[in-house]
Formats: sequence, structure tokens, C-alpha cells
Amino acid sequence: MLLRHTPLEIKERKALTINPAKTCQPVGAMYAALGIHGCLPHSHGSQGCCSYHRSTLTRHYKEPVMAGTSSFTEGSSVFGGQANLLQAINNMFTVYEPDIIAVHTTCLSETIGDDVNQIVQKARDDGKVPEGKHVLHCNTPSYVGSHITGFSNMVAGMVKYFSESTGEEKKQINIIPGWVEPSDMREIKKIAKEMNVETVLFPDTSDVMDAPQTGEHAFYPKGGTTVPELKSTGDSQATIALGAFASEAAATLLNTKCKVKYDVLDLPIGISATDRFIHHLSKVAGVEVPESVTADRGRVVDIITDMQQYFYNKRVALFGDPDQLIALTEFLLDIDMRPVYVVSGTPGKQFAEKMKGLLKDKVPEAKVANGERADMFLLHQWMKNEPVDLLMGNTYGKYIARDEDIPFIRMGFPIMDRIGHSYFPTVGYSGAMRLLEQILTAFLDRQDRDAPEESFELVM
Ligand code: SF4
Repeated sequence: MLLRHTPLEIKERKALTINPAKTCQPVGAMYAALGIHGCLPHSHGSQGCCSYHRSTLTRHYKEPVMAGTSSFTEGSSVFGGQANLLQAINNMFTVYEPDIIAVHTTCLSETIGDDVNQIVQKARDDGKVPEGKHVLHCNTPSYVGSHITGFSNMVAGMVKYFSESTGEEKKQINIIPGWVEPSDMREIKKIAKEMNVETVLFPDTSDVMDAPQTGEHAFYPKGGTTVPELKSTGDSQATIALGAFASEAAATLLNTKCKVKYDVLDLPIGISATDRFIHHLSKVAGVEVPESVTADRGRVVDIITDMQQYFYNKRVALFGDPDQLIALTEFLLDIDMRPVYVVSGTPGKQFAEKMKGLLKDKVPEAKVANGERADMFLLHQWMKNEPVDLLMGNTYGKYIARDEDIPFIRMGFPIMDRIGHSYFPTVGYSGAMRLLEQILTAFLDRQDRDAPEESFELVM
């Protein structure tokens, strides 16, 4: 009963968040930056901020996350961090030899008003950026938004700094995958390859955050979107932005800068959203959907048919990041479950609208909240008042699941108490199969645990 003080009575709160359902902007900016090949992220703020961003990513991905910090002290907090950042850029290029340094700001450097654009330009003018190397930056004030906002800002920064239009269209499609696991990025590339579509995926953390162990340490693993690829995004035929919250800003900017048309789709989690992604990819690239992809879909439908009796009418509580929650809610509705509570700490009006559209006919009693006051405390109170059959979300949900004795599936970011999650996709038909298997196992394990001896079944 670690959360024994959570009361049943729900009171309106205007100025207090308890156990927020989000983390801070720079964590997202750092994760996005790791999806560029040869990139060293840099946190322009205090050492404490950078340690937090790195450790959160390291705990989730179980990989060492390297990053620089401007190491603000009292002096830089008062007079500004220009000198620190200039020295940091010089030191990092000299000692660690990255191809790119991706700078993001923090609450402190935003509050004192450091002009990072100007500082980076000064670094170039002073010759601190070697020939052929790059520094990009984005602003990530963490007193607004969430890690998803930070991710989105860094991806838009990639477009701002690198995308170029040569006037000659390339037969390729940009895909902005949103905040998903490295395994998801690999799966999206695999689907595109299967469909014979040339793509530029950015950012791409596959083979960076899940690089194989070879016995040799590589400071910059072989994965990540390269600078020539990022530049070429301005010549692509079209952009597919997966997830409005994490990817739309970059797609819009690319359209404004280089006139590359774009569409925003839901993350391809579950059968309907994957159908739409594959259909759209085939349309914009002008290719047929191959038989192998259709067969994968057929297997998912077959699995759903076998499992459906266990899913029907089950009440689920979800929390996490908006793009994932939107797609996951649709998937759960597709398999006749009832997402009754959905909470995201990331602000944005379109989340509530989208959820309303999905839930109003099938689960009219559903409660949806997002933004700063939408926290895990509120979710727990809802669950105490009217329990659910399943909870899905990141590691922080384990306290609620334990207190309420409810099956719990870890999904989203961060997952700090399990290993392996980032190696299995949740997107595409393969991802749908994994999710289905996880959900069914959670229900049947609970049934086995609670069954009296006379109805403890071997065959279920
Ligand atoms: S001070 Fe701001 S940027 Fe630093 S860790 Fe806290 S929320 Fe994140």
C-alpha cells in the first residue's frame, strides 16, 4: 500500500500536480538527437539536469547515453552561459570528435534568456566548429510541454538546420517515426523495404540505442540518420509524420522550407492504424502492397479471432504519451475492450478531441484527461472509485497496480524495472501480435492465480 494516502474523494485542483504523467522536455530532445549518426547531445544548463536526462534514457534503454553539459554554476546562472557553451563546443569537438553536436536548452538557460542561436553562430565565427562538422540546437523550456514536446522540437531543429531543396525530386519518402522504440523504427524501415519504398527515416535510433554487442566499444554506433540523408529530406516526394504530437512540427516546417507535401497519420500501433499507414505509404510511393504484408495482417486477424473471447468488455486504464495512447485506444476498441480511463501529462487540445471521436459511441462513460493537472494521482482515484481489469503504461504504474491488485502491462516511456522492451516492436502487424500476446497473458496469468483448485485448468 505505498499509495495508501490516495483518497477516494476527487477534488478539483488548480495548482498542484501529484505524480505527473510525463517527464521533462530535454529528455525527448536528447533521445531524438541520438537518432542522428555521429551525434553528441549537449544539455545547456546545470550538471544535475544533464544527469537526470541521461540516467532516465539509460535506465530505459539499458545503454550508456553520452551527452555534454554546459555545467552552469552560480556565475553562469547570473551572467549567462555563453562562455560555458563556447568552451563545451570546443572541448567536445577536440576530445570526443562527434560529427554533430545537438544542443538543447533547460529551464535555467531559458529563464535567464540565453540566445543559443547567437552563441552557436559565435562558435562558428570563432572557428570552434571544425570544417565539415555541425552544431544544431533547439529550445526546450521544460516548464511547458513534456518530453514529447522536446522530441518534437529537436526533430524540427533537424529540418531547420539540414533539410535542403536542390530542385530535383528524389524518389524517396520521408518518414518521421515519432517517439517510438529503436525496434519500432527498425520495423517501420522493414515494412517500407518489403514494399520496395525508398525512405529517409529521421530520427532513427535503431543500431544506436540497441546496437549489438560486438566486443568493441563504439562511441558512435553505426546507426542513426546521416547528414546527407537529412539534407536530402528537402528533395523527397512526400513526408509521412507518424503521431501529431511528436512529428507534425517537423513535417510542417519541411513543407514551409522545401515544399515537401506531408500527411500526419497516427502511430501504426494496432491493426487499423497499421492498415492506414501501409495504405498511405503505398499510395504516396505508387507501389502495390505485397502479398507478404497482407499475410502478416491475416495472421493478426487470426490471432484476434482466437483471443477475442478473453478481451470482450474488459475495462482498461491507460496513461502515457498522446500519440501512443491515441493509437492504442483505437486498437483496444478494435478488439472489443473498453478503455475507460486515459491520462497523458502532455498538453494539447487535439488529444481530447481525438479521444472524444474514438470513444464517444463505444465507451461513452470514458474519462480522458491531459495536460499539467492530468496526473497519476487522478488516474488512481478514478480506479479506486470504479476499478478496471487492466492497467497499461510506463514503470510508474506499478505502484497503482500493486495497491489495487490489477494486472499491469508496461508500455511507453520510461520502463526502468524491466529489460528487453526496447527490442520488440509495438508498431506494425508484428507489434500488434506482441501486444495481443501480452494482453492475453496478463489476463490468463491472473485467472490462473485466482482460480480455485477445482477450476485450475490445463487447457484454456
Ligand atoms: S530543471 Fe528543467 S530541464 Fe532541468 S531536469 Fe528539471 S525540468 Fe528538466
